[in-house]
Amino acid sequence: VLTAGNEIIAEAGAKLARVAAAAREAGLGGFEFTAGIPGTVGGAVVMNAGANGASMSRLVRDVLLLDCQGDYHWKTNKELHFGYRSSVLQKEPLILVEVSFSCFPRDRSEIGKEMEHYTGRRRLTQPLRPNAGSVFKNPPGDSAGRLIEAAGLKGLRIGDAQISTLHANFIVNLGAATSRDVLALIEKAGETVFSRFGVRLEPEVKIIGDD
Ligand SMILES: Cc1cc2nc3c(=O)[nH]c(=O)nc-3n(C[C@H](O)[C@H](O)[C@H](O)COP(=O)(O)OP(=O)(O)OC[C@H]3O[C@@H](n4cnc5c(N)ncnc54)[C@H](O)[C@@H]3O)c2cc1C
Repeated sequence: VLTAGNEIIAEAGAKLARVAAAAREAGLGGFEFTAGIPGTVGGAVVMNAGANGASMSRLVRDVLLLDCQGDYHWKTNKELHFGYRSSVLQKEPLILVEVSFSCFPRDRSEIGKEMEHYTGRRRLTQPLRPNAGSVFKNPPGDSAGRLIEAAGLKGLRIGDAQISTLHANFIVNLGAATSRDVLALIEKAGETVFSRFGVRLEPEVKIIGDD
């Protein structure tokens, strides 16, 4: 992770939290909203990760990509076609190598205060047990958690997987949950919300592999 003026350059494998810490150290604002989002720079940019009313698309200036032929390409923010938890990188077979971010000068203690505020709120509203983050994307104008809760599914358990009693858009592992338990809960939540409210929830999590 390098800082140069108002710019931060990070390799895709760097932890997002490390980049946010480097930004704070350098007195650069912009990464505050990422407080508490786990994972790497690569995952965050590909997913256009976001929270607290902002997302990675606001920070990315350009990216260095590697294609399947071993050639490098640069793409600008605009060329990444960012949307809600989406980017063109989810569709194209490209490896994100490096990202440059545009930040702005900000007082370090203000950055720290804002990040602590977000972390504190997360602790109160999101489960601490192992989970994969938000299960579904929020449908336009509504929240997946509200719909799942309104469908009466908060706390529903299949095996050791449970729809969190704290926030219904999280599935927690109570100890020995299998991927099958989690997938069954995802299916149950999606079907119940559709039959009750006519809303099709789209998973935010990526499901890898099959039975
Ligand atoms: C407790 C918890 C809280 C969370 N809170 C949030 C939140 O507030 N907001 C939010 O948006 N997300 C949240 N998430 C989801 C997740 O943390 C983010 O989407 C995160 O940015 C993913 O990063 P990762 O490194 O884990 O990526 P992965 O999950 O490993 O990868 C995500 C996708 O990106 C691809 N990818 C990763 N790196 C590269 C690369 N270098 N080149 C090409 N493709 C790549 C992967 O193939 C995959 O398709 C949360 C997750 C958890 C567990």
